[in-house]
Amino acid sequence: MALIVQKYGGTSVGTVERIEAVADKVAGARARGDDVVVVVSAMSGETNRLLELANAINDTPVPRELDVLLSTGEQVTIALLSMALEKRQCPARSYTGAQVHILTDSAHNKARIMDIDAERVQNDLRAGRVVVVAGFQGIDENGNITTLGRGGSDTTAVAMAAALKADECQIYTDVDGVYTTDPRVVSNARRLDRITFEEMLEMASLGSKVLQIRSVEFAGKYNVPLRVLSSFEEGKGTLITFEDENMEQPLISGIAFNRDEAKLTVRGVPDQPGIAHKILGPIAEANIEVDMIVQNVGADDTTDFTFTVHRNDCSKGLEILKSIGKNLGAGEVNSDNKIVKISLVGVGMRSHAGIASNMFKALAKEGVNIQMISTSEIKVSVVIDEKYLELSVRALHDAFGLEEATSV
Ligand code: ADP
Ligand code: ASP
Ligand code: MG
Repeated sequence: MALIVQKYGGTSVGTVERIEAVADKVAGARARGDDVVVVVSAMSGETNRLLELANAINDTPVPRELDVLLSTGEQVTIALLSMALEKRQCPARSYTGAQVHILTDSAHNKARIMDIDAERVQNDLRAGRVVVVAGFQGIDENGNITTLGRGGSDTTAVAMAAALKADECQIYTDVDGVYTTDPRVVSNARRLDRITFEEMLEMASLGSKVLQIRSVEFAGKYNVPLRVLSSFEEGKGTLITFEDENMEQPLISGIAFNRDEAKLTVRGVPDQPGIAHKILGPIAEANIEVDMIVQNVGADDTTDFTFTVHRNDCSKGLEILKSIGKNLGAGEVNSDNKIVKISLVGVGMRSHAGIASNMFKALAKEGVNIQMISTSEIKVSVVIDEKYLELSVRALHDAFGLEEATSV
């Protein structure tokens, strides 16, 4: 008998019919003798609907109250799923995050899980019940409701699995595994049987929202066997694994992209020590996270300084640059939020040169201009105009032969 944590995302519980179908799957696992804890998201579109309601009152709603509002989406689905299970003679109990003591820090809207008290859940499991837990939410030490950031139910599930020492954490979603790239953009993308934690972490942090990055971090840290599967069809899905020295590593495992970035530029800054700090210091103080940074030195001893931030922070960043630009004696300051970042990810890159140049060649062939480049051990990222996103991802997917098994 195994202990399984199953997580069902928004589309998987998007209608009453879908919730009934999930109940069939859960009751089936239970009938096979497994102990099951289920974590659910809100019905698809619900979290966005609640956000719009809040924004209709205030563009920047009070973070604490926003969490009280957003957490209600998941409270609906836990209750409905438990009712559907009871209807199937499968004893079940639903709990909000607070009720099972998912203790988080107090960073509203992006809280981190610090501890889970597994006892209540274990008691229910011992009594033969399925436990249905609301994803995406917790409670801080002062009793305030918190939420974990978009996609946070993945992290609830993995944290639950870690706390309960579950045999597997299964993430059921609307695709049947992790693909070489988003299958909605590249129709011949290939499902991966397995992907390493390290690569999945890169894919998630570079924009593949199939798993929230914190869930992958958590699974790696606490050794939770993690699998992504479809809630609509049977299949093995994708297992996230530790790197196996003996396993043949493909050069490139996947292509990730991020549509949420914007680019800020300060031109004609005097090329002197301390300039990067003078520009990025105030940006950091305003709590704006910086991703890529590029500095070009011109012939006239001035530099152009460009960096990327989240699109939501673009106008705030631009205001800051305008105010410090004057003191720096800089030239023009501008922003561009019509950009995207595309990244190639693969642990096989470590031992192979030439990936970046092949990437640039494939983009050049399509006439796509590269605005920024950054590389690390297992990834190469470029920033390009957003209108070339689909074209570029498809061209790269073809150029690196990702639709067929790639081997070194
Ligand atoms: P859920 O609501 O179940 O949490 P999400 O929408 O958060 O589902 O994540 C699943 C989606 O992730 C898929 O529908 C797919 O469009 C997208 N996705 C992006 N990159 C990938 C990838 N490499 N492999 C699979 N799906 C991906
Ligand atoms: N409902 C939340 C969201 O839409 C959390 C989740 O689905 O994982 O982001
Ligand atoms: Mg998700």
